[in-house]
Amino acid sequence: MTDGRTVISLSVGPTNCYLLKTDGGYLLIDTGYEWEYRTFRDRLADVGVDVDEVEYLLLTHHHDDHVGFVNELLDEVTVIAHESADELLRAGENDRSGGGLLNRRVYYLAKLRSWITPEWDLTFPPVTLRDDDLLVDGDDDRTLRELGIGGTILHTPGHTPDSISVLLDDGTLFCGDAAMSRPLWAGIRYHTIFITDLEQHYESWRKILDSTAERIYPAHGEPFDAERLRENLGAYSDDALIEKDPITDRYDDFG
Ligand SMILES: [Zn+2]
Repeated sequence: MTDGRTVISLSVGPTNCYLLKTDGGYLLIDTGYEWEYRTFRDRLADVGVDVDEVEYLLLTHHHDDHVGFVNELLDEVTVIAHESADELLRAGENDRSGGGLLNRRVYYLAKLRSWITPEWDLTFPPVTLRDDDLLVDGDDDRTLRELGIGGTILHTPGHTPDSISVLLDDGTLFCGDAAMSRPLWAGIRYHTIFITDLEQHYESWRKILDSTAERIYPAHGEPFDAERLRENLGAYSDDALIEKDPITDRYDDFG
């Protein structure tokens, strides 16, 4: 059974990907942006893992910085995702329903980034899942164990409807973007940057706090103690969110 001692972390651009050992090959948690595939292959080589050894790909959600090069791996892997990811992956762009950006500072930082990185447009190559891929419809205590991973999948929506987290039996939690630890100077206080439903976001934090999670490994930033979520629970209200323009369906002039 996999536990926290057999986790390999890979920095693929701004996204942290993780490898867990299964009974047969590795399970990869998330990919990076479309243009980071080469970086991913380099990071894999750094840790001495061959791409052919990656047998499963768990997507914490459908966003561009998590699914960018899924198609490069699709022939070799079985995908694990939330059932609502199926349609979102086929659409090829980040779901911008509901919610908004966390606060004005995040909004301006995102704007700045879109000037510096024009290829960042919240889209990704569409992904079509197959019948053999494994879709979970909520919390799931079976799928990972069947692969030899001592852990469970938690549905943790709020950042997106399809957000899932992986909780290992030793208290290690891979939360995708259900929480993040940077940039703290942007005032995000462990919240995620894009939010489709703030109430769900906090419900997911409560679910994590009620679970056996102790140490959280986010997709962005350094690992942190789960208690940080308790300290910041409810720090924002819907009023703080920056909504997209209702006519253009965009966050002003980016994305
Ligand atoms: Zn995301």
